[in-house]
Amino acid sequence: MTVRPVIRMGHPNLRVPAQPYPPDQIESNDFATLIEDMRETLHAYGGIGLAAPQIDVGYRIAVIEIEETQTRYGEIEHTPFDVYINPRITPISDETAGYWEGCLSVPGMMGYVERPQHIRIDYTDRHSKTSSKEAHGFLATVFQHEFDHLDGILYVDRIEDKSRFAFEEEYIQFHDQRGQSQVPE
Ligand code: ZN
Repeated sequence: MTVRPVIRMGHPNLRVPAQPYPPDQIESNDFATLIEDMRETLHAYGGIGLAAPQIDVGYRIAVIEIEETQTRYGEIEHTPFDVYINPRITPISDETAGYWEGCLSVPGMMGYVERPQHIRIDYTDRHSKTSSKEAHGFLATVFQHEFDHLDGILYVDRIEDKSRFAFEEEYIQFHDQRGQSQVPE
């Protein structure tokens, strides 16, 4: 397993829409290696989600794993490691909510983004099975943030109030209502 470097905002490949992953390759050794590397990279960087374009792989694949339920985003539900291949998002209600987001490709920064807060995800899982799940609240934001990467979109594109785009230290000092000490994500 290999920790791969996460490319950062400014790298043009973060802005290229990713290609669908060929379903007949899901059983391949290359795929297994890619997923192991993504998991290793996610852990090494201390993140909760990683999209393949962030390690400069232009396929529509993302992994999400939330082990610690206490994060710099507050309390969020435990979410076991899972792989989302060629995912699609459908909002289930008109309800939106805003959260402060961070990104391994935009290190040291946080920004406030409003998104749909009740969504359904349709995707192919790592065993080639078509699957779907629903997500609410901050977890819905995590999915949308990661899947945006597959379309070449960064959360900074979605910040409407630019006064709520901040360095982490200033976020903690001026914007974090909870006043918790934060861990890097
Ligand atoms: Zn990101």
